[in-house]
Amino acid sequence: MNTDLNASALPGQPFLAYQGSDLMIEGVRLADLAQTHGTPLFVYSKAAMLSALAAYQRGFAGRQAQICYAMKANSSLAVLQVFANAGCGFDIVSGGELARVLAAGGDPAKVIFSGVGKTRAEMKQALQVGIGCFNVESEAELDVLSDVAVSLGKQAPVSLRVNPNVDPKTHPYISTGLKGNKFGIAHERAVQVYQHAASLPGLKVVGIDCHIGSQITDTTPYLDAMDRILDLVAAIEAAGVPIHHIDFGGGLGINYNGDTPPEADALWAQLLAKMDARGYGQRQLMIEPGRSLVGNAGVCLTEVMYIKPGEQKNFCIVDAAMNDLPRPAMYEAFHQIVPLSPRSGDAATYDVVGPVCESGDWIGRDRQLVVQAGDVLAVLSAGAYCMSMASNYNTRGRAAEVLVDGEKAHLIRQRESAFDTFALEQLVG
Ligand SMILES: *Cc1c(COP(=O)(O)O)cnc(C)c1O
Repeated sequence: MNTDLNASALPGQPFLAYQGSDLMIEGVRLADLAQTHGTPLFVYSKAAMLSALAAYQRGFAGRQAQICYAMKANSSLAVLQVFANAGCGFDIVSGGELARVLAAGGDPAKVIFSGVGKTRAEMKQALQVGIGCFNVESEAELDVLSDVAVSLGKQAPVSLRVNPNVDPKTHPYISTGLKGNKFGIAHERAVQVYQHAASLPGLKVVGIDCHIGSQITDTTPYLDAMDRILDLVAAIEAAGVPIHHIDFGGGLGINYNGDTPPEADALWAQLLAKMDARGYGQRQLMIEPGRSLVGNAGVCLTEVMYIKPGEQKNFCIVDAAMNDLPRPAMYEAFHQIVPLSPRSGDAATYDVVGPVCESGDWIGRDRQLVVQAGDVLAVLSAGAYCMSMASNYNTRGRAAEVLVDGEKAHLIRQRESAFDTFALEQLVG
């Protein structure tokens, strides 16, 4: 139990700290936000986002590098605005995300468009606003994109997503850069596909990209992937197709439960040393970090509704659910759960669960807590892949969101009402 509650920052959470018995985010009491806005409530720290971004910026000091925030991690407009104002571009995966970038004041020239299933309409929309690059994931997509660009009298800037096929035996992490998944172009076919791309009238080859997976906490797979990509750059250029930029994707992990990923600047010191050693140190770089920029900048506040002691398990039933926090149900992911105002007393072991009618609706299992109905808990590391994956399952309106900046708290998204959830529906007849 945490006994010294005097302004003690939570481990791995520099912008969350207990002051007395109040959990604060920057200069704001989380309990006040729960009181004002209700629960479940997502709260983000602007300083935490900018601090995560600063680690990348330090890593790239003196280099030509563009950071494109992978906005599927958290696509709320005010979050995008923070990153746009800090000079970031965006990695998007749909026309909807492009519309969000524009609504948030982002620069379309700094947008890169990833994803295996871009529609013609999305390609057209992106060409018309002049995005920076299409990350193309298949040969068929190259042909369609060229066709769409020609019909608009334009040339689409393209990079091919290649699959570095980093050995999974040495790195058993969840991976997207392996043979046998839907992403990217096989390493062995890359030169040929580049030559095809260079021959198409509607395309201009500008780069190469890869993205090997997510929640990566080890440096080695990145170093291996960099070697594989630089080998390919050499081969593609030898075949007569110049590569202007190297896009190294995202995927850097965060500390959810004692995980120890490298810091972004330390990781990039090693990657840049490798690029320097191989003579590519001055090449234009792009990266697409998502989770590592926002994951630990956010918490989800949730009120304890009922305590339900059981024969085998105790349940702590809270008002947030799998529709708000889908990661435990989807990936059996772990989120720390802490009280806003710790109580003294004997802790009991609980499964923290939501009200949704699914056994998969749990937020945390076997947690030691001292709680009563009416207490508010903070689910930590909830800045990435939570709100952006939230749904209306069980006709639950999505949570409200607040962005904290120092002592100020801005409501950046209102809570959805039940009416909002069915506003587009119609009765028949
Ligand atoms: C999801 C995704 C990212 C971001 O991944 P994180 O693990 O959140 O950093 C970057 N690039 C592509 C192509 C992605 O699909």
